[in-house]
Amino acid sequence: MINNYFADIFPFAYNYFSTMLELVQNKEREFPQSIVFEGMDTKKQYLFALELARILNCKNDKTTNCDCINCSWVKSLSHPAVQNVSQIHFKGEDDETKTVISEKQASEIEKTLLLSSDYHRFFIFFSSGEKAWEDGELFEFKKLGYTTEIDFEIKPLNHTTFSRTTLNALLKSVEEPPKNTTFIFLTKSKEDIIPTIVSRSVVFKLSSQKQTQNYNLISNIISKYPNIKFEDVYEISDEILKFISDNQLKLEDFLNMFLLYLKDMLLANCSNDVFCQKINSDIEIINQAIKHSKAKIHDKIALETLLFRLARGY
Ligand SMILES: [Zn+2]
Repeated sequence: MINNYFADIFPFAYNYFSTMLELVQNKEREFPQSIVFEGMDTKKQYLFALELARILNCKNDKTTNCDCINCSWVKSLSHPAVQNVSQIHFKGEDDETKTVISEKQASEIEKTLLLSSDYHRFFIFFSSGEKAWEDGELFEFKKLGYTTEIDFEIKPLNHTTFSRTTLNALLKSVEEPPKNTTFIFLTKSKEDIIPTIVSRSVVFKLSSQKQTQNYNLISNIISKYPNIKFEDVYEISDEILKFISDNQLKLEDFLNMFLLYLKDMLLANCSNDVFCQKINSDIEIINQAIKHSKAKIHDKIALETLLFRLARGY
């Protein structure tokens, strides 16, 4: 689904969103309504945001080369539901401001959201300006199949261009958007936008830092996490026990791998308080399961206890 290009530059986010998009496709999960990207390369953040928008709107096979109307629109920066929002984008005619994202833009977005839409709507926020690009700089865009010339800058949001007043005007839309709406904020650091927005968002550091581990081995649990349901516990438990015995592992090895996965997730992610708290409390639960397994409690019992606790959340 997601272009391999991103597996190299943002390995953790690539894996996370690949899993997420599959869950969304299977209707097991809603895509996040608000995302803050942090990191040094805002242009690549922008490309990643477009890639997510393309996949969520694609009506075909979602591959990189797909030429359905939605993919073509995204790649020519003309998708009607994928909006840039900056000092020079998404400006109403009566909006005189030229150096900031204004309150008028925030209320324009609120109005837009009153209309129904068949698309997955994206609002991508960044600081911009006019700019003639050098050929080399557009290389990344062209490599990903973008067909249009880009004549605007893509820089991180900051307190000057994106003021507290505007953000407060936007808060209602971000808090209670209609289904299939996602706000994405491109920043160097989440400190550059107000905490009330950050706390309602999934925050992702887009860094090129590799994961410390290959997690394919525990994919059967990752694909269900964090939405493990009570009714699935016995099935997941049987899958894991079979996997462990097929691979001559101990339950403890498996749990340690899962623990590393969650710690990586914390590192690479996340300042979304609720989500972080959940991961932290799940780490505790897994640590206890590791103790159980060291204390020679039967694997099946230790594992089912763990899964029930993850499903229950404490
Ligand atoms: Zn498509």
